[in-house]
Amino acid sequence: MTAAVPTPLPAPQRLIVLGASGDLTRRLLLPGLGSLLAQQGERRISLTGADRRELTPKVWSSRVQDALREGGASSERSAQIAQTSDYRTLDLLDEAQLRDLMATVDGPTVLYFALPPSITRSVCQILARIGLPHQVRLALEKPFGEDEASARELNTLLEDLVEDSSRVFRVDHFLGTAPVLRLLPLRTANPLLRGVWDARQVESIDVVYDESLTLEGRAGYYDRAGALRDMVQSHLLITLALLAMEEPADLGAQAVHDAQLAALRAVRPFTGDPGTSSRRARYTAGSIGERTVPDYLAEDGVEAANDTETLAAVTVEVDTPRWRGVPFTLRSGKALARNRFETVVRFRPVGDGPADRLVIDLDTQEIALRLATGGTDWRGTGPLELRGEDQAVHLWPYGQVLQAVFDGDEALGVRGDVAEQMWRICEPILAAWQQGRTPMDTYPAGSEGPTGWEQETAVHSS
Ligand code: NDP
Repeated sequence: MTAAVPTPLPAPQRLIVLGASGDLTRRLLLPGLGSLLAQQGERRISLTGADRRELTPKVWSSRVQDALREGGASSERSAQIAQTSDYRTLDLLDEAQLRDLMATVDGPTVLYFALPPSITRSVCQILARIGLPHQVRLALEKPFGEDEASARELNTLLEDLVEDSSRVFRVDHFLGTAPVLRLLPLRTANPLLRGVWDARQVESIDVVYDESLTLEGRAGYYDRAGALRDMVQSHLLITLALLAMEEPADLGAQAVHDAQLAALRAVRPFTGDPGTSSRRARYTAGSIGERTVPDYLAEDGVEAANDTETLAAVTVEVDTPRWRGVPFTLRSGKALARNRFETVVRFRPVGDGPADRLVIDLDTQEIALRLATGGTDWRGTGPLELRGEDQAVHLWPYGQVLQAVFDGDEALGVRGDVAEQMWRICEPILAAWQQGRTPMDTYPAGSEGPTGWEQETAVHSS
């Protein structure tokens, strides 16, 4: 019997993480890589970390190993990658040091920018001067700019840096989370939902991302960003795009991104006025479970002059024939009573019966559909709730993102013009807030939010 010819392994892919000592790399990116390796044992990856913080090879190696295992990679695989991984202490804004790092590129490589946005921009400027090896793909973290103009500038810079836009991947890890990934098939592949996905049958849609977490030591970033820039401008608007876009002709990147862009271009403040179509609030002292939380303005690193909101809600209309007149509310905040990550689609009631409702839990992956059925008297109507949870084992969001970056699946990235649109929607709201046209409400930490902001009961509520 002749020995089976082994199938050739795919070419190794190298991942260079810039900002390898930072929070994102440690908490999300490396465990995400671990989840990818756990599902795809055959995938070959070599890893290099670069950061200005000094780390000994031993500390780096054990960090890598722990993080990969956290994501589910086997002990052997984690140890093998960790042992062969190298770490370079360098200042990425030093041209000579960056040039040296680029000189080590000798094959298909992903350059992952896990850096503060201002440093990312500067590193791109230096790379544009020194030239980027042609096998390099770039993965950039949000935020993409601070407003529409700077998002456009960043896009122009990236065009100078790489002649082929498919080599740039703008990461929004929401696009890697299973429930968000499934929104499009859910609404297009089921006759039940496909036939009612428009203004004739849908009364309103909410996308909510409420957290019980507070600042978690990130005041330096958060106090300058706030809830609108941090969550609504990126994650919630891309979720809205998936809910509201027309069905793309195919699931290729161009068709998907074109459809997202068209939906976002049609977004307007619901009342026509960004000041009255939005709400903002800030938490005051309170308690969340056992935790006592100080007033936001008394938190370390917070400056009252920044006038930062910790909860934002924006109601928009998607001015297309499909959606005209339907309010889409995007809401996100911190220090709330509980985590609540969900999309709620409310259908128009028929007669006096309870309205049907679809709730997609973006965290637990549970889907609940409330349907009006007969009550005790067949002439009456009572609600019946059907619930189901996706049992499939999914990659960590950053595992999904890394898979897409390695494999060049651009559809899971954010295209440059889509990022610009998301700023186009948020800028007038930020301007209205700056002019004091939207009052700053307050809510005690650990509450459901300010009085008067109540929303429809969520999937976990009775
Ligand atoms: P951090 O500030 O924690 O990490 C960035 C790392 O880059 C730090 O180790 C920092 O070192 C290092 N660094 C900064 N400047 C240089 C330089 N000139 N040369 C070499 N290293 C440098 O940021 P995060 O990890 O939190 O975030 C990174 C990106 O990911 C951001 O764009 C953020 O918006 C995005 N993001 C973060 C998430 C998170 O949960 N952390 C979630 C989603 C996105 P030093 O500490 O010395 O400054």
